[in-house]
Amino acid sequence: MSKFIQAVRGMNDLLPDVVSVWQQVETAARAVFEAYGYREIRVPLLEKTELFARSIGEFTDIVAKEMYTFQDRSGDSLTLRPEATASIVRAGIEHGFLHNQTQRLWSGGPMFRYERPQKGRYRQFHQFDVEAFGMPGPDIDAEIVLLGNRLWRMLDVQGLQLEINSLGMPDSRAGYRKELVEYFQSHRDQLDEDSLRRLKSNPLRILDSKNPQMQKLIADAPSLFDHLDEASSEHFMGFKEQLDRAGIAYVVSKRLVRGLDYYTRTVFEWTTERLGAQATVCGGGRYDKLVEQLGGKPTPAIGFALGLERLVEMVIQQGARAEAEGPSVYIAVLGSQAERAGMKLAEHLRDKGIRALCNCGGGNLKSQLRRADKAGVRFALLLGEEETRQDIVTVKDLRQDSEQRQVPQAEISSYLQQQLA
Ligand code: ATP
Ligand code: MG
Repeated sequence: MSKFIQAVRGMNDLLPDVVSVWQQVETAARAVFEAYGYREIRVPLLEKTELFARSIGEFTDIVAKEMYTFQDRSGDSLTLRPEATASIVRAGIEHGFLHNQTQRLWSGGPMFRYERPQKGRYRQFHQFDVEAFGMPGPDIDAEIVLLGNRLWRMLDVQGLQLEINSLGMPDSRAGYRKELVEYFQSHRDQLDEDSLRRLKSNPLRILDSKNPQMQKLIADAPSLFDHLDEASSEHFMGFKEQLDRAGIAYVVSKRLVRGLDYYTRTVFEWTTERLGAQATVCGGGRYDKLVEQLGGKPTPAIGFALGLERLVEMVIQQGARAEAEGPSVYIAVLGSQAERAGMKLAEHLRDKGIRALCNCGGGNLKSQLRRADKAGVRFALLLGEEETRQDIVTVKDLRQDSEQRQVPQAEISSYLQQQLA
């Protein structure tokens, strides 16, 4: 026997029972996006590597060590998308739907990052993205927070906390950067290897370190928040006011910097204590400079990405179960004439909107009824020689103790519709 080939590490198969929970989450998310007037956009899984280097930032974890990058047959460097915002902005510039207008968009699908796989952290994972373009004020910041909050409510997800912060604008960061470098320079001996590298390239990123040994040092570092420019401070006040008015609870978390370079002003995360170490379910922020940085006209923008694996895990923890609608009837067929009639009957029932399974692959009555039971149907329809001759079906209720009954084939669909209603 040849050697069995397993899935790639960190890339999951989703089996039908779990998929059913995913579908519940996806259906709820779509309904919420639509309720706020967000329209779906779909972008490719592959982009030119440069797109991510230029948007996410060379010295972020994602670009420095997590990307699936390869050369295609013509020698171009391509990357499996690690996130969707860069692609959506690229598409917006390419198709001209960002400049001088407002856009509310959502997107969803798999993302790829070469991370160390563990619970809640995979190499192929899924996100829903929400992005809003052309609106500079804090009203839209609040809107996307409300949108997220409505989704948690709709799914009945408890225990998510909203953390918010402001990163100011690049100019106000410059002065802060100097102060931060001085602080970390004076504690060089406590910096890990990554942080030493970032001290030269992008010191702000040190604040995003996940290394537990660095947390005390980071907590005592000067805060970007204290260096906010006035317009950013006002924006942040406006954002908080809107949240207060909407009755959304939040904590201001001055260490929240987020893992991507393109953020300006508002950043936020929805976190939970219910998922262990991988605590962030959803994260986002404003990225007012990104469109320009990628070659478009200056366009304010804000968005978030929500991790579906983590959200689905919360929904499952709360007792969600598979609830996709399975078939309602199983047609058991005995004899070659009945087999042919069975196929036809099944098609007839499907025409009438009844979900029908027709036995395939032979088997005696007992084994066919076993399959019917396993399929979870309410009714088994028996078709044997006698039934085909008389143009009837024998109906057996598998879930209730009642007599079998014979129904003319011409009436079977209306009989079942009545019973299943
Ligand atoms: P983390 O700090 O957990 O690495 P991040 O800041 O890298 O997250 P984002 O790029 O902001 O994450 O992505 C938004 C969301 O996508 C995260 O909050 C998380 O729910 C989910 N996510 C990110 N990376 C992974 C992964 N490798 N596996 C599963 N979900 C992920
Ligand atoms: Mg990460």
